[in-house]
Amino acid sequence: MQKIGRSAWMEKRKPGAGPLDAVCRPLAVSACTSDVHTLFEGALGERENLTLGHECCAEVVEVGALVKDFHPGDRVLVPAITPVWNSLEAQAGFPMHSGGMLGGWKFSNVKDGVFAEYFHVNDADGNLAHLPREISVVDACMLSDMVPTGFHAAELADVQFGDTVLVIGIGPVGLMAVAASALRGAGRILAVGTRPVCQEAARAFGATDILSYRDGGIDEQVLRLTEYRGVDRVLIAGGDESAFAQAVRALRPGGCVGNVNYLSAGDAIGIPRVAWGVGMGHKRIEGGLMPGGRLRMEKLAQLLLWKRLDVRALSTHVFYGWGHLEEALLLMRDKPRDLIKPVVVLDE
Ligand code: NDP
Ligand code: ZN
Repeated sequence: MQKIGRSAWMEKRKPGAGPLDAVCRPLAVSACTSDVHTLFEGALGERENLTLGHECCAEVVEVGALVKDFHPGDRVLVPAITPVWNSLEAQAGFPMHSGGMLGGWKFSNVKDGVFAEYFHVNDADGNLAHLPREISVVDACMLSDMVPTGFHAAELADVQFGDTVLVIGIGPVGLMAVAASALRGAGRILAVGTRPVCQEAARAFGATDILSYRDGGIDEQVLRLTEYRGVDRVLIAGGDESAFAQAVRALRPGGCVGNVNYLSAGDAIGIPRVAWGVGMGHKRIEGGLMPGGRLRMEKLAQLLLWKRLDVRALSTHVFYGWGHLEEALLLMRDKPRDLIKPVVVLDE
C-alpha cells in the first residue's frame, strides 16, 4: 500500500528477529476484506509504503536467541493478530488490545504484513503454532483470520445449545460464525446474504434458513419467521452500522449481539431506544477483535484435524505464485458472485 487507493510491489530490506521474535516466509497467503477497507477505503487512515496482508501460513527462517519452541524450517500457522503476551492487557484477558485498543493487530496495520518474501513475527513462542502435515497450506490460511474471527463472533454472543441464532453476513467470516454456532449446539440458525455460493456454503455449515437483506428489513423478516419471539443471539459479520439497530430489534430480552464486522465508515452506531427496552431490555452488545495466540490456534487446528470443521469450501479461488496476488486482492474488493476466498500458494 503506497497510499490510500494505490498499491504496487516494492523492494524492502529483509526483516531481522529480536530475541523473542521470528522471521518467516509465507507458504500461502490470502487477501482479506480488511485489506480492502484499509487500502481502498482508507478506513484506518493514511498508511504510506505499508506491506498489506495478515493471512498466511509460513516456514520459519530465523528465530531470536530466546525463542524456545520454534526453529528454522518449522511450518507454522500465523494468526492475523499477534499480541504482546506479557502486557497488562493480555493479563487482563484482552491480548488483542495489548499496548492499546486493537494493539494486537499489527500486520498490515501498524507494521508490515505478510504479502512479502519475508515477514517479522513478534513474541514467536506466544503467537506461532506448529502446522500439522495433515492440514493443507490452503486450509491453513483460513486459520489465520476467517476461522478465529467467525468463531469469536459466536464466543462474543455466547451461543448456547438450542439457541436460535441470526448471522448477519455470510462471507467467509460469517460462514465461520455459522459453523461455530452449529458446533456450539445452536438450534435454528438464520443466515443473511445473497451470493449463491455463500448461501450454499451456509447451509452446509449448518444454516437452517437463508435470508436476503434485499427482501426488506432483516429484523422484520426474522420476527415474522420466529412468530415475533425474535432470536437469542445475533452474530454480525457484514453489512454496515445499520445492522446493529436491526440486530437489537430482532433480539429477545436476555439475548446478545456479537459483532466482528469492521465498520469502515460513519461516526456513530444507532441503538433503537424502544427496541432496547428503553434502556432496560437486557440486550447485550459485544464487539471484538479476534484474540490471537498459539493455544487458540492449536485448538482451532484440532477442529480440522479431527474433522469437526471442514474449511475447504471457503477457498473458491486458488492461485500459484506471487504474480497472482494483485488479482486475489482485487477479487476481494470486487466480490464476484462465485467468490468466497482467494488463496495464493507460494510453496507446499
Ligand atoms: P464479505 O464482504 O465477504 O461478506 C460480507 C457479508 O455481508 C456478505 O454475506 C454480504 O452479502 C453481507 N452484506 C452486505 N451488505 C449487507 C447488508 N446491508 N445487510 C446485511 N448483510 C450484508 O466479508 P468477510 O466475510 O470477508 O468479512 C466480514 C467483515 O469482517 C469485514 O468487515 C471484515 O473486515 C471483518 N473482519 C473482522 C475481523 C475481526 O477480527 N473482528 C477480522 C477479519 C475480518 P452478499 O452475499 O450480498 O455479498
Ligand atoms: Zn483478515
